[in-house]
Amino acid sequence: MALDPAIEPLDKRFHRLVIHNAHIDQLWTGARWTEGPVYVPAGRYLVFSDIPNDRTLRYDELSGQVHTFEQPARNQNGHCLDLEGRIVSCEHRGRAVSRIAHDGHREVLADSFQGKRLNSPNDVVVRSDGSVWFTDPTYGIDSEYEGDAAESELDGCHVYRIDPGDRSVTAVVTDMVRPNGLAFSPDESILYVADTGISHVGRKCPPDIRAYRLAADGRTVNGEPQTFATCDQGVFDGFRVDRAGNIWSSAGDGVHCFHPDGTLLGKIHLPEVVANVEFGGPKRNRLYICGTTSLYAMYLNAQGAGPALV
Ligand code: MG
Repeated sequence: MALDPAIEPLDKRFHRLVIHNAHIDQLWTGARWTEGPVYVPAGRYLVFSDIPNDRTLRYDELSGQVHTFEQPARNQNGHCLDLEGRIVSCEHRGRAVSRIAHDGHREVLADSFQGKRLNSPNDVVVRSDGSVWFTDPTYGIDSEYEGDAAESELDGCHVYRIDPGDRSVTAVVTDMVRPNGLAFSPDESILYVADTGISHVGRKCPPDIRAYRLAADGRTVNGEPQTFATCDQGVFDGFRVDRAGNIWSSAGDGVHCFHPDGTLLGKIHLPEVVANVEFGGPKRNRLYICGTTSLYAMYLNAQGAGPALV
């Protein structure tokens, strides 16, 4: 079987990660800017954002139908699940990280740091200790397009951690220009964060993913970050990690896959700019891809990593 021509292996190890008779499906189209996919295994559906249209959508894996999940949606962006399977949301217009409680109500987890409003939380991940880590660039307050335009109240754009006990918020990464997507390595020893600051300061901020080593307490990062990878087409926005530690990242020309050693293993080319990806399906081996106006998916010979639900 021939590979789908949209799949470009750049290293022989990539052949083991793709399936040679699988192809890319365009599941749905009709958004302005798709982002923030999260797979909900209990319901076999994917929730994703259409930020400028101020809605979240739900793709039902069994029927193939897409329906509105929430609208208005406080211009939600990134999502993930917490350890109880609740959807955690980054809200541009709400300038908050919230979650949907088991009874359906919205519960704010964080909306300020040291008494100042957050900028516009962008992407979020939950660690196995229940802590919630999120990025807070200004894209949701830069204009009226993806939120409500406003001045930042903070001294910069940082990565924050919400404590699972007292819900205190601490700044864990403060050396980035516009931190965006983030994920942990499977053993949670490394925090990967994309910086899309090229949007504001140009090439002074290369479109990188940086790797921060976690301190022994698992609450802070240690020392200088390493540049893990630099994007050769557009920027890395959101990304996910598979169980072998490979990183599957959004990029301007599709999805880029990196070995944990930083080697670009291959690309999945798509006709639209990709903002984020998520592993789904009962086996977590289907990569859902948010590409500008459309939702795409492809089965892989790789499975998404992440903490077990409790
Ligand atoms: Mg993002």
